[in-house]
Amino acid sequence: MKTQCHCGQVTIKLPGPPTKLNRCSCSICRRYGALWAYYVPGHITIFGSTDTYVWGDRMITFHRCQHCGVLTHWLDIDSEQTRCGINMRNIELSELEGVPEYDGHKP
Ligand SMILES: [Zn+2]
Repeated sequence: MKTQCHCGQVTIKLPGPPTKLNRCSCSICRRYGALWAYYVPGHITIFGSTDTYVWGDRMITFHRCQHCGVLTHWLDIDSEQTRCGINMRNIELSELEGVPEYDGHKP
């Protein structure tokens, strides 16, 4: 399974489909309209060049395609990365059919 930005410059190879999707409503994710799936950073492969944005407590870096500007993923700034977020809006909806969604920002 792989995700792709609009222009195709940034693609991310995933080890398999997600088990759940976080439609996070925090102040930045709702603006991005992101739909996150989480993977172990060592299990994914990222191709292409990105621009980044760091916000708030500076724990994570949001990545977007340098060409089309589409948000592709976030990575931990901490070197001991155990989790990263992949924006599943960059995949065909039919590939995500039946995967449950939740809002990770709500308690
Ligand atoms: Zn692009």
